[in-house]
Amino acid sequence: MSSGSDSDEDPALRHSSPQWPVGTGRGSIEVTVMNYCGLTTVLVVTGFAIYRFMTGDVSGAITNAAIVILLTTALVLGRMPRRTGIALLLFGVVISASCLLSALLVSSNGLLWTYLVLWINFLVLPRGLAISFNLILTITLTAHLRLFDSVLQQISWVTVAVLISGFGLVFTNQLREQRKLLSELATLDPLTGAGNRRLMQHDLEKAIAAHRRGNDTSTLVVLDLDHFKEINDNHGHEAGDRTLEQFASMVRATLRVEDGLYRLGGEEFVVLLRNMDRKAAEDSLQDLHRRLSGRVEGPEGPLRFSAGAAVLRPGENWSRWLARADHALYEAKHAGRDRLIMA
Ligand code: GH3
Ligand code: MG
Ligand code: MG
Repeated sequence: MSSGSDSDEDPALRHSSPQWPVGTGRGSIEVTVMNYCGLTTVLVVTGFAIYRFMTGDVSGAITNAAIVILLTTALVLGRMPRRTGIALLLFGVVISASCLLSALLVSSNGLLWTYLVLWINFLVLPRGLAISFNLILTITLTAHLRLFDSVLQQISWVTVAVLISGFGLVFTNQLREQRKLLSELATLDPLTGAGNRRLMQHDLEKAIAAHRRGNDTSTLVVLDLDHFKEINDNHGHEAGDRTLEQFASMVRATLRVEDGLYRLGGEEFVVLLRNMDRKAAEDSLQDLHRRLSGRVEGPEGPLRFSAGAAVLRPGENWSRWLARADHALYEAKHAGRDRLIMA
């Protein structure tokens, strides 16, 4: 199970859990770079296309027009939340192929464009693809001796190309590592590794949006450990912390990948069960509670918990949904603890 996921993104471009807010969606560094470079290139190449057409170079004009159409397609796809991965891939392919063809077929000025493309590839593509594209570009162009005035110029070009690729690799690795770390700091509870309230709200809103689109119905369960204070009082805060960690990993191991586990605060957790309607919840949740409550052996004996569950209702917002589950939890506590009550 994950602590929340971002299904808007291309899996090839996703980092390991958690995905939010790290990603390649609109507003990410990848898409921003593509928009800036793509728009500039579209303007410049449109100018070339017009010039070539007017000077009678029809095939050159058609090639330029094709580049403009493909880049514009990538830019448009980049504005669609679920298409940013494919947009970045298309953009990388088009700029790499364009600069290769421009150097080989038009003029050796293309060698200068290649420097820029080697760098942009690392910024917009997944690492493996960027390395492959850059290797193809560098090897193919270096092998074409006629592009260079002398061996010295050829060696200089390839040296700078390798340096730029190396720098791009190191820089983007660092950038992505730091973004991942920042995302973890912003979305995970440091003690249990469960999602925090911020990630919970984000995921609940996504589940509500999915329900509105008619995709699926989700169910929310709020859990609260029973008599947890006794562990702290009798065995110390550290023993309490260890118990919370064990409980969170046990629950995480039980859930499916698409579900979410969040820590609301203290010894209270929220579980988001995707694709679970009222019938499925009634059929399985009591059994799930029976299997999980008491499974972790705490310092005071088997660790029991109370739970309240609420199936998402049409038109409901996330705080209302959570409040209904919380109210059911309150009823479970009052009914004697160690049970699950459906809202
Ligand atoms: P109930 O069955 O009614 O839920 O009883 P309880 O003792 O679990 O509930 P109560 O809300 O009275 O106590 C919760 C305790 O959880 C109080 C607080 O000291 C402890 N707690 C909250 N956050 C943490 C934490 O991060 N680590 C540890 N060790 N204890 C925590
Ligand atoms: Mg409690
Ligand atoms: Mg509590």
